[in-house]
Amino acid sequence: MTVCFIAIGSNLGNPVEKAKLAIEALRAMPDSRLVSCSSLYCSKPMGPSDQPDYINAVAQVETDLEPLALLDTLQQIELEKGRVRKDERWGPRTLDLDILLYGDKQIASERLTVPHYGMKQREFVLYPLAEIAPLLSMPDGKTISDLLTACPLNGLQKYSETS
Ligand code: ATP
Ligand code: CA
Ligand code: CA
Ligand code: CA
Repeated sequence: MTVCFIAIGSNLGNPVEKAKLAIEALRAMPDSRLVSCSSLYCSKPMGPSDQPDYINAVAQVETDLEPLALLDTLQQIELEKGRVRKDERWGPRTLDLDILLYGDKQIASERLTVPHYGMKQREFVLYPLAEIAPLLSMPDGKTISDLLTACPLNGLQKYSETS
């Protein structure tokens, strides 16, 4: 089994519910085991600002799926949860599942870049990731705490059911 980290994001169609459904779908993936999941976080949209805030989380999964089979499975879950792919980059979406890390592997293929190219700059990825893997190192040796030091919160908050 390979330890992987998956980023979950949603800002349409009841994002809290979508994130929870995504976590249940990750739990049910074939040849895999959901190890842990961060709290839910609320973040400001990246790119076009004329869209709702996002709900984000990061999950740790152990899997026997090869990287592209894992990507296929995640994209299938996105579709099942109602995602419609549009041309607008970083536009609103019901569910986005990105592979952040796949063990220590570095992948640069047409469909897949691992580690995820944007993770080092994205507060809505790094803070949830640090919550579940505070001692993590990237394949290049950078630690999660180094990355957090360089990454402002940019309005990121833990989501609470009562707020
Ligand atoms: P960003 O990649 O900047 O977070 P996005 O998640 O909105 O933007 P998508 O439209 O969801 O981008 O994905 C576009 C393509 O990115 C996917 O079809 C997939 O092939 C590719 N991709 C490359 N690397 C990854 C990765 N690590 N995880 C998920 N998809 C990836
Ligand atoms: Ca727009
Ligand atoms: Ca993404
Ligand atoms: Ca994506």
